[in-house]
Amino acid sequence: MGTFIGIDLGTTFSVLSAYQDDGKHEIIYDKERFLPSVVFFDPSGEVEVGAIAVQALELDSDNVVTQIKKKMPQNDSFTLDFYGSSYSPEDISSFILMKLIKGAEKKLGKIEQATITIPAFYNDIAREATKNAALKAGITNPTIISEPVAAALYYSRTKNMNGKVLIYDLGGGTLDCSIVQIDGDNVEVLGTKGDSFGGTDFDNKVYGLINKQHLEQKGSNIDSDLDSAAKRQSQKTESLKKTLDERDVSSVFPSGEGRFPIEISKTDFESEIQEYILKSEIIIETLLDEINLAKNDIDEVVLVGGSTRLPLFQQHLKDCLGKQELVTTVNVDEIVSLGASIYCAIANRDDQSATQSEDLGDAKLADVVNHYYGTEVFDKNQNQMINSIMINKNEKYPLTFTDQFYTMSDTTTLNCTVTQSEIKTEDLKFTEIIAKTSLEDLSGERQEGLPIDITFSIDENMILVCSYKDELSGKDIVIEKNLNPR
Ligand code: ADP
Ligand code: MG
Repeated sequence: MGTFIGIDLGTTFSVLSAYQDDGKHEIIYDKERFLPSVVFFDPSGEVEVGAIAVQALELDSDNVVTQIKKKMPQNDSFTLDFYGSSYSPEDISSFILMKLIKGAEKKLGKIEQATITIPAFYNDIAREATKNAALKAGITNPTIISEPVAAALYYSRTKNMNGKVLIYDLGGGTLDCSIVQIDGDNVEVLGTKGDSFGGTDFDNKVYGLINKQHLEQKGSNIDSDLDSAAKRQSQKTESLKKTLDERDVSSVFPSGEGRFPIEISKTDFESEIQEYILKSEIIIETLLDEINLAKNDIDEVVLVGGSTRLPLFQQHLKDCLGKQELVTTVNVDEIVSLGASIYCAIANRDDQSATQSEDLGDAKLADVVNHYYGTEVFDKNQNQMINSIMINKNEKYPLTFTDQFYTMSDTTTLNCTVTQSEIKTEDLKFTEIIAKTSLEDLSGERQEGLPIDITFSIDENMILVCSYKDELSGKDIVIEKNLNPR
């Protein structure tokens, strides 16, 4: 029988929850309900995660890693070195997962299956890296789900509703907006869109305001050349930002000689972050547009992520969507993790206890494609290679799409590529090739202009299958790519 674990592996904090045999559903914690996603490489060779690592920022910040999640999309090309060993983002994330799991195992016993959440916009590399980090942390059967879907899934269980919900997740470094249709136990994603800004950018704005006054009063910049000073400073600016939720003015003592207090007003802070309100509005409007919905089609707005505590953003959402109230019944820091543990149970139905299966019924989850997928083709009019989109973002899968192209010369080899992009574009600068192969030995004496049929499909397990078929010879080649390595 199963204990199902959900882990929100966050940029700033990570949270673990368990959905247990008896139907109990809770955050499992060691000392705190959340673990700072901070990793410290100690000179003795120990790896410390969490509060100790945060403290180490003060003294030995060169050996501390923060915000590794942002590097996951570059897992294949980025490493950090400590004491002669190299670590990939996947390795560092695995330390965070391991710490959470060890802490939870003290209470729950051996953990083998868990669901880890990822941002909806994560590319293939980041998805794979997250899954591998979980394997390295000792989870033998990891599954992956996107953060907004996890949040929606949990929300759907706290309230019996039928309607459209905006899941608005503003965390440390990203805004993730998803619109979902909730019908009782069933959750269907209608579309997602995001941007890469969040709490850290607001901290930087606070830092800018502090520095401006420092410059005016002392004639010099706050010491920000040193990475360590910058990291220390960022802890201070972050706490100052949080106090402004409830106060009109807050003060801070910058580090360095000749300390004197600097006061920052809520009004100044809010005008500094106004640009992000505008960005948020554009994201929401574009997303609604993409899925042909109007603002008043949205029945509820569910807040997720620490930065949604900012009063300015709450007001913005009310104004933007014409709502009197936002959903604040579920803790913004915990909803994603709680949803992930529910998903873990749904993904491993056979291990559910009787209580759990009664509780979950036949809860279903329908998701949409998170990127555009296409293939590189030569465009005669533009006289250059372009991206030809085969599958649109936000389409519900399973799906299949076929298009016919024509050979450009009497070549016997045809290059076949699969591209992925976050935007709808023909420009290959904005696409990433996620797979390629070639269709070879096409019969001789060919002329240009012979038809090639290309079919892209995504099945219910999110496996992308791309086939390239030469009509004349009947030869074909198929590329398979798992878009969601669950
Ligand atoms: P992530 O999912 O990216 O790890 P979280 O959802 O944990 O992020 O949110 C972390 C961000 O929320 C941090 O930038 C933090 O400063 C911000 N935050 C947390 N509490 C508050 C608050 N009361 N007011 C403003 N920002 C807050
Ligand atoms: Mg988050």
